[in-house]
Amino acid sequence: MLMQEERELVVEYGKKMSADRLSTGTSGNISIYNPEKGLMAISPSGIDYFKTLPEDVVITDLDANIVDGARKPSSEWALHTLFYKNKPDARSVVHTHSMYCTTFAVLGQPVQAVHYVIGDANTAAVPCTPYYPFGSIELAEAAVRTAGDSNAVILGNHGLVVCGKDIAGAYGLAKNMEYIAELQYRAMCIGKPNVLSDEAMADVMERFKSYGQPGSKKTGY
Ligand code: 13P
Ligand code: ZN
Repeated sequence: MLMQEERELVVEYGKKMSADRLSTGTSGNISIYNPEKGLMAISPSGIDYFKTLPEDVVITDLDANIVDGARKPSSEWALHTLFYKNKPDARSVVHTHSMYCTTFAVLGQPVQAVHYVIGDANTAAVPCTPYYPFGSIELAEAAVRTAGDSNAVILGNHGLVVCGKDIAGAYGLAKNMEYIAELQYRAMCIGKPNVLSDEAMADVMERFKSYGQPGSKKTGY
């Protein structure tokens, strides 16, 4: 089977995304990009994550031509391909409707540096796009434009999209984003959160470069 390893990872992380409650029902989608082949493995549209098999995962090029697989690819294929086209280091994209990130999406507000771990997204604030319909090219373009150098972006009235240098990194960032959004929400319920300065966040991102064990292939924080 073409890109069997990537297909198995898409299935594994889809189940994780559902079990970790980052996704409700068939919301969200996952892809992995293989630059040597110029192909991406993307979750199929609208199939229960616990019923998805490796052969259901669709292999496409970055122009959404299906190269292998009998299923219809995720309706957000353009969102995924535009991240790979615009972010040269991206090897995986994860899109969720996780509760707290989507709460800020509904408010049209960014997730801020209320906790230093937001540095995992390579930014001090994760911006929010205006609303565009799901599966639209306009949504994909707005996401990439709004993200800029950030590896995470809130999709107005919709959810979250992140990218990473591998699936573990992208998934870890989606989890961290949900943690920070929940913290921001909770802090806003009882007061005014103290937001870290751009200088403090630049220092965090520098420190992250040497975080963990020397030589480890760490992909998240
Ligand atoms: P798909 O099932 O087509 O991937 O769509 C889910 C979703 O979250 C659309 O934004
Ligand atoms: Zn969605």
